[in-house]
Amino acid sequence: MPIQTFSRPLLEHVLRQRVRALEPVTLRDGLTVTGLRTVPPGKVTGVRVKNGDGEDEIAADLVVDASGRSSHLPQWLAALGLPSPRTTTVDAQVGYASHTYSYPEGQAPPSWMGVLQPLRAPDFHKGCYAIQIENKALHVTLHGANGTQLPHSDGEFLSFAKTLRGPVADTIASLTPTSAVRRYARTVNRKIAYHRLASWPDGLIALGDSVCTFNPAYGQGMTIAALEARLLEQMLSNRPARTPLDGQAFQKRLARVTASSWLMATTPDRAWDQSRLSWPVRAGNWFMNRLIDTVPHDPQLYTAFSGLFHMTAGPLTLADPRLLSRVLIGPRPGGSPRTTTA
Ligand SMILES: Cc1cc2nc3c(=O)[nH]c(=O)nc-3n(C[C@H](O)[C@H](O)[C@H](O)COP(=O)(O)OP(=O)(O)OC[C@H]3O[C@@H](n4cnc5c(N)ncnc54)[C@H](O)[C@@H]3O)c2cc1C
Repeated sequence: MPIQTFSRPLLEHVLRQRVRALEPVTLRDGLTVTGLRTVPPGKVTGVRVKNGDGEDEIAADLVVDASGRSSHLPQWLAALGLPSPRTTTVDAQVGYASHTYSYPEGQAPPSWMGVLQPLRAPDFHKGCYAIQIENKALHVTLHGANGTQLPHSDGEFLSFAKTLRGPVADTIASLTPTSAVRRYARTVNRKIAYHRLASWPDGLIALGDSVCTFNPAYGQGMTIAALEARLLEQMLSNRPARTPLDGQAFQKRLARVTASSWLMATTPDRAWDQSRLSWPVRAGNWFMNRLIDTVPHDPQLYTAFSGLFHMTAGPLTLADPRLLSRVLIGPRPGGSPRTTTA
């Protein structure tokens, strides 16, 4: 699996440049959407916006709510008289602390491009993710689950890293931090069942984190948002000429796009609450842990797992009986490294 590593700001900068370069696209900065513009009986015809001190409206054939985790769509739908959609949350109380480091002049970067040490219930409350990024820098994120205390300062960051196996602590000990320690803890998995609403306004869809957000530790949200954008493109190009997009059908198909990622994120996250483990969660976690333990010893299984993890293949990849039996047999004697470097 070819992987390119870079910082999130660089990715967003490049994407923004590409979007700006699209002929028919105009970006309007500095506006806050405050509500939907509608005509009875509930057709959405645009949005209301706040622009500095002023208010304005923007007309649209189709409004796409892509406003992320803090979307106000449930309240806006309620204002249209629609029932509240069911919201499901699974919170493993995972927190993040990130730091970026630069290499001193003349010091070679590490021999690895990235290190991943995943969290794993019930035993591994701490984990990390470190990657080399642009401008000869190393980005390190430490994870703690189930309310684990996260570092605030450079010293605490190094001390936390030293509690992990693998090369990260030794590597950062000789590097200079180029950022403050940044912490983040809104990692709850949350899914809003818009697809189950009996009625849905014309002229509106919702996608990305505004519908389904995942614990970012699993790195799924951007890929899912991209797959949803592709679904939108397909549905727009396949509809009969001059027919509006069927928003309700879009939300139903979107729910299918998110289903397996939701399962992959919430099954391990539910396992932190050992007192309330249902048997499907128990079985799912047993299987995932066995798979992760076996992957470093089995190139074919690694390839299948990589496809699943990076969403270039669906969950049925693992339904191949030859692969399944190798997971069930488990790793060869000698133990498995919990840290993966690439
Ligand atoms: C710490 C962290 C690490 C992550 N790591 C990964 C990773 O490694 N891989 C991965 O695939 N995903 C990762 N994710 C998830 C990923 O960031 C999200 O899934 C993805 O950004 C969702 O895209 P989106 O467009 O739906 O929402 P967002 O990217 O959140 O964008 C929403 C935009 O809408 C704007 N907005 C909100 N409300 C309004 C309003 N009322 N008016 C105008 N604008 C508004 C916001 O300012 C924002 O620009 C991570 C998330 C976090 C928090």
